[in-house]
Amino acid sequence: MRVANSVYVLPIPRSPQEAGSYLNLTLIVDEENGNTLVDAGLPDQTEAIGAALVDAGIGVRDLRRIIFTHQDLDHVGSGAALVRQSGAQVLAHFADTPYIEGSLRPLKPTPEMLEERPHMREVLEHLEPVSVDEQLEDGSSLDIAGGTQVIFTPGHTPGHISLYLERSKILIAGDALTAEGGYLNGPYPLATPDMRTAMQSVRRLANLDVETIVCYHGGVVSEDANGQLRRVIQEASRNRSE
Ligand SMILES: [Zn+2]
Repeated sequence: MRVANSVYVLPIPRSPQEAGSYLNLTLIVDEENGNTLVDAGLPDQTEAIGAALVDAGIGVRDLRRIIFTHQDLDHVGSGAALVRQSGAQVLAHFADTPYIEGSLRPLKPTPEMLEERPHMREVLEHLEPVSVDEQLEDGSSLDIAGGTQVIFTPGHTPGHISLYLERSKILIAGDALTAEGGYLNGPYPLATPDMRTAMQSVRRLANLDVETIVCYHGGVVSEDANGQLRRVIQEASRNRSE
């Protein structure tokens, strides 16, 4: 699905056990500065990702960089295999880098999450570490899509980032936000160890002028994106005071 001139959202089916559930990777096509994939699905999804790239008009070999919004296995999963095929550079926030590179054990899935999705145990065994070539921090500016800003949005993980494409006003929110049928929601509580920090991150995102939000879980939000961000914050503060 094309959301702007050179920005594509690639929905990858999550697993046969979870029909109708998709992971929404983002592809930014840039003939000048190289193509960028944001997040890399679960382990063993290289083929599905490759097919989605072909639909968008490029191949795995045409990827110049892969940016991870964070360390979770449904974002890093096929990263190592995609890097082997493409030689792409890997970028991630410094606080999540040791988990992505395997020097620290990934913080998730937690035992509670594995209880809800028992088949993830086997998927987790297939997770390969990935070397990070460039560590990002809040405010890092990337020469992608006419200017892309890295926004540090911790809470879901310690090193979660979101990406703001300045020219198209697209916010790639990773798991800092979720959505359902165009309706924006806050981060998923069961998978977000620090909800308080995560909501502070949502407040930072609400300062941006956003036209389109891409949620990794839930896809594209394009109707009144700024208004929906404000609503998510209001709902969270109302729930807290109740
Ligand atoms: Zn996720």
